[in-house]
Amino acid sequence: MMVAIRRYAPYVDIEKVDEAYHYAEAKHADQKRKDGSPYIIHPLAVAEIVAEIGLDTDAVLGALLHDCIEDTDSSFDDIARRFGKTVAELVEGVTKLTRVQYSTTEEQQMENLRKMFMAMSKDIRVILIKIADRLHNTRTLQYQTPAKQISKSMETMEIYAPLAHRLGMQKIKWELEDESLKYLEPKAYQEIMDYLDAHQAQANEFMRGVQSKITTRLSGVGIHGKIYGRIKHVYSIYRKMKSQNKTIDELYDLYAFRIIVDTIPDCYNVLGHIHDLFSLVPGRFKDYISTPKPNMYQSLHTTVIGTDGIPFEVQIRTWEMHQTAEYGVAAHWKYKQGINKTGEEKDFEWIRRLLESQQDTDAEEYVHSLKVDMFDDEVFVFTPKGKVISLPQGSTPIDFAYAIHSAVGNSMVGAKIAGRIVKFDEPLKNGDIVEILTSKTAKGPSRDWLKICKSNQARNKIKQWFKKECREDNIVHGKASFEAELRHMNLNPNILNDEELLPNLLKKVCFDTLDDMYAAIGYGGITAQKCVGRIRDELLHAGKPPKDPKATGLNLGKAPTRNESGVIVGGDIGSCMVKFSRCCTPVPGDDIIGFITKGYGVSIHRKDCPNAKGASDPAQADRWVHVTWANTESEPFSTTLEIDSTARQGVFLDVATILASMKVRVTEISARDLPDDRCLTLATFDVKNLEELNTIRQKIRGLSGVTDVRRGRN
Ligand code: MN
Repeated sequence: MMVAIRRYAPYVDIEKVDEAYHYAEAKHADQKRKDGSPYIIHPLAVAEIVAEIGLDTDAVLGALLHDCIEDTDSSFDDIARRFGKTVAELVEGVTKLTRVQYSTTEEQQMENLRKMFMAMSKDIRVILIKIADRLHNTRTLQYQTPAKQISKSMETMEIYAPLAHRLGMQKIKWELEDESLKYLEPKAYQEIMDYLDAHQAQANEFMRGVQSKITTRLSGVGIHGKIYGRIKHVYSIYRKMKSQNKTIDELYDLYAFRIIVDTIPDCYNVLGHIHDLFSLVPGRFKDYISTPKPNMYQSLHTTVIGTDGIPFEVQIRTWEMHQTAEYGVAAHWKYKQGINKTGEEKDFEWIRRLLESQQDTDAEEYVHSLKVDMFDDEVFVFTPKGKVISLPQGSTPIDFAYAIHSAVGNSMVGAKIAGRIVKFDEPLKNGDIVEILTSKTAKGPSRDWLKICKSNQARNKIKQWFKKECREDNIVHGKASFEAELRHMNLNPNILNDEELLPNLLKKVCFDTLDDMYAAIGYGGITAQKCVGRIRDELLHAGKPPKDPKATGLNLGKAPTRNESGVIVGGDIGSCMVKFSRCCTPVPGDDIIGFITKGYGVSIHRKDCPNAKGASDPAQADRWVHVTWANTESEPFSTTLEIDSTARQGVFLDVATILASMKVRVTEISARDLPDDRCLTLATFDVKNLEELNTIRQKIRGLSGVTDVRRGRN
């Protein structure tokens, strides 16, 4: 057996290998295999497979020692002291994988298990040793009980064969599949084997014929190449029968030929000769040299038909491609041996380089699947029942709880990892068994959880909870942070009381009411910064004419119409919303002009309002429209008068008396003292028209001490 290791891997440090062999032999001395042979046979066979796929000395040592920690009294430290830390880590890695339990056959779970394997194998050699271990155990399954044969074969089919495939190790994958099929579908397996046996002679004759035809041609044109003929492996025949619902003799192609040459140009040359020698089956040619498969596989594939009408597949590749096809990622150690013995491959740079050269999307997926052990972006943990949960790296028990179910997260009061109580922010590690403690009286998630959790899933579910459970609270929280943000931007929160501005603002932030917006901010659906950001421009430009007339959103082109507001908007603007500007509070009878606002119809100003001065600006000329008062009774208009007077007690009262005698509704009246013993009184009230306003204005003007009465303008 040692000889075999030496033959496969002449570069290994055979002295060290010998030492490890004797160490393992002594440790396993009192153990026997199921077939009665000494236990050491198994690790030795695994080491041989590891050598065959081309791994380095450390991996061979790791394979020899792989069952020591699990099955004997040797420890990590003992192995590290004797054989180095790397070897001890490989052994420990394999041991951890050995302890992973399978409890399901659900497809998604299997995929997670496979990923967990990758993630747990910090060093990709761990998984390669584990696959070699499984290959040898599969080869010796006949000594196990029937129940164990079936469960192990299922594991192999679901976990190890796909892993071998993903790592590009076709040869091992095929053997794992064929051996497993033997136990999982014994009848079908036997049927295929019987058929192949019965047709052995015929098949050999056919393959020899094709082989010699190709050999003759290639040597005739001076191409150096080796030709192998084979019958496809049992499991792939089985799968084809199943998927095409055919018996084996109805199957399209059972034969495959492989031509291995020295260079890539030779590959394409050979292809030409094959297509010349045999008739081509259209649509079956594939160029995996220019577009490698995600698992790095490269070859030219074509299917042709021989003279006797039997179709067969031909794969053409270089020796280097052949190594990769057989041993996948492991093949790269083989090439590295001798060139670079420093073992500087720890960061798997070569896989990255290799994958970067593959541009198709499958390759990206492959990068992602390998990522778990190279880039550390996912963590895989178990529920107490053995279900695997995949979470982003750095996830906590909170993420785990919400991954199980939102109800579990919302009623979580504690968490255990491997039976030990942990804090909510404890980062989960690969392979952890996590248990969530819940209580019916739990208060629900806390806002801090949003900062602790790592997964979007948990974050969204926590936000949802806040959204549903505490709207009142959220409104209070949200309002506070929104107003804080406004002040931070030097904006006055009172601006939100502007009923003219509000619908516009709500439209900007896409909420129906202010409370809805506050609630959303409160539960974290949107940030206060974002909301303020969306309306910032509106707030800053409130009252100022916007620049883009095309954005007015008005119905143009209709006949002039009377508006309910009592104003006729002329020109080519039809029925539209009208509002009375707050700056000059026009009333019927005032000379007025309309300004087309952005999104809120026409705003009516007095012609003498300072804000209407823009009407003479040619750049804005097309936004100012002619408006007139309708000659009908309508709702009263609110307006303001500013009254200057000497500081005399009673002006305030006199003004109020006049307003009361005129039977107008007063909404506000206030007075304040000015320097030089003067006083300013402001009165806001409703009037029907300018006439009524002028009457009131005259009466106030006549009061003693009053020096001026002006129309208010802010
Ligand atoms: Mn083993």
